[in-house]
Amino acid sequence: MAWILNRYQCYRCELVWEDEWSCMCDDDCPHCGARHCSPLESEDLSGYIEKAPSTFIVYVSDAIASDAPEYFEVGRYRTERTAKAVMTRVIRREWNRALDLFDAEIHQASSLPS
Ligand SMILES: [Zn+2]
Repeated sequence: MAWILNRYQCYRCELVWEDEWSCMCDDDCPHCGARHCSPLESEDLSGYIEKAPSTFIVYVSDAIASDAPEYFEVGRYRTERTAKAVMTRVIRREWNRALDLFDAEIHQASSLPS
């Protein structure tokens, strides 16, 4: 799914740490083990632009990514503006695809005999 960098601060020992996940989820403190610390802030790393000579290369995290971002190259563009517009559109498409996959999974699970 999307790729997100979460920043946490422990409510017990005040340790600050960062972790990358495919969602904005809670984490346990790596120092004192306090459970379910919520992210202070999250940065969307679902896509990035690499600058090459006279071209901008757009990478986006694949919809099926869960343990790693699994970036794939979307394309190469002459201007940064176009690259950004394409990146935004593809990220949105990948989010929708991830939601569809998620729905399909739930549907599959609920149709299994209990
Ligand atoms: Zn702690």
